[in-house]
Amino acid sequence: MQKELRKLPSVDKLLQEEDVQALAEAHSHELAVEAVREALESARQAILEGSPCPPVSQLVEMTVANLNRRLQPTLRPVINATGVIIHTNLGRAPLSQETRASMEEAAQGYSNLEYDLEAGQRGSRYVHAEELLCRLTGAEAALMVNNNAGAVLLMLTALAQGREVIISRSQLIEIGGGFRIPDVMRQSGALLVEVGTTNRTHQRDYEEAIGEETALLMRAHHSNFRIVGFTHEVPLAELVELGHKYALPVIDDLGSGTLLDTADYGLAHEPTIQESIVAGASLVSCSGDKLLGGPQAGIILGQKDLVARLRRHPLTRALRVDKTTLAGLQATLLHYMEGKALEKVPVWRMMAMPVETIGERARAWALLLTEAGAEVSVVDGRSTVGGGSLPGETLPTKLVSIQVPSPDDLARRLRLGQPAVVGRIEGDRFLLDPRTVMPEQEKTLIERVRLVLA
Ligand SMILES: *Cc1c(COP(=O)(O)O)cnc(C)c1O
Repeated sequence: MQKELRKLPSVDKLLQEEDVQALAEAHSHELAVEAVREALESARQAILEGSPCPPVSQLVEMTVANLNRRLQPTLRPVINATGVIIHTNLGRAPLSQETRASMEEAAQGYSNLEYDLEAGQRGSRYVHAEELLCRLTGAEAALMVNNNAGAVLLMLTALAQGREVIISRSQLIEIGGGFRIPDVMRQSGALLVEVGTTNRTHQRDYEEAIGEETALLMRAHHSNFRIVGFTHEVPLAELVELGHKYALPVIDDLGSGTLLDTADYGLAHEPTIQESIVAGASLVSCSGDKLLGGPQAGIILGQKDLVARLRRHPLTRALRVDKTTLAGLQATLLHYMEGKALEKVPVWRMMAMPVETIGERARAWALLLTEAGAEVSVVDGRSTVGGGSLPGETLPTKLVSIQVPSPDDLARRLRLGQPAVVGRIEGDRFLLDPRTVMPEQEKTLIERVRLVLA
């Protein structure tokens, strides 16, 4: 073993190898040194475990592989075959072609982001999406921030710091990634006043809690859970009535925020932004990258005076949205304006996709995989919307079911390839849902599965 260890070349010697030198010149000397050290260290470990010293050619290969790995981006495309349309772990809403093009154009050069071309002077970045949002929802004014968590934090901080906010116990939600209404409330400096019980809250519960220190009434969407059975919540319109009586603004965290009615696609009705505005909410907030189907953003809509107060708050500057986000949001909203959201916005296209179309795609995939020798069938299944909307609601779908000795092993190998493929495992089967796979990804997907099965 000592003898084998002594055969290992020095770092300097490996660095002088032609291929390693070429890498050092093409990239960086420091990276090449790191890659050489890593190769030598793994060879040393292997020798200690009883292997012979690898030849120099193999050490060079290992070095090259190490360096290439360091130069690869870690954030990579994934083919989503899970059937979860708005998958937070996989980056939520995929964007329309027009949206991507607008974002690229904004990124590429200069723009009139904060420049009024008509007046030839400084303008506001918010105008670009504000008018569209107001037209689509009927709101008086709009503001965009980094995400909806930021939007909620901003509304609470600017309007209720050091004062009380009344909310139903049934709405003290936690969503994935550590967003909890009570925590956000504490962070904003507002004091949480919870009313009602877990399952039932009435208008009088709110009314009894209203006092000198009350700043706001708040409603939050349940997001990812559902309470069923003996339940009651106060409809937004009744909260608004109460708000008017005591001159208190009502803020509504809608979570997903949709402009179209999900009930048209065999799902439960998800409250729309327009409904909250019509019901008279003073401010409504939602995400840009959930059911809206655009880039990550937090959208606040509502009364002009309140939006103006938020706009002046220093936190708005800290939560400021980037130009590419505004460009993308604008392009996505234009699809709704043109009445083309169903065709153009990928999350809506996926939701509206007829099960017959999914079945055709599944059968075509199954045929190609059977030809490759796999044990494949097409089975009935359910897709989900995800993104903290429509908890418990599913859409009928057709799944490609692959039977293999180890579905875990198949899943792992599909995840680790390029591009990564993520599917579902159910029992001894690996499942692919065509609903969330873009048509242009189909060929690559089938190739990857065939390769891994071979
Ligand atoms: C998703 C969600 C949020 C957080 O939105 P992000 O855009 O992820 O920051 C807040 N409230 C509710 C009810 C949600 O569903």
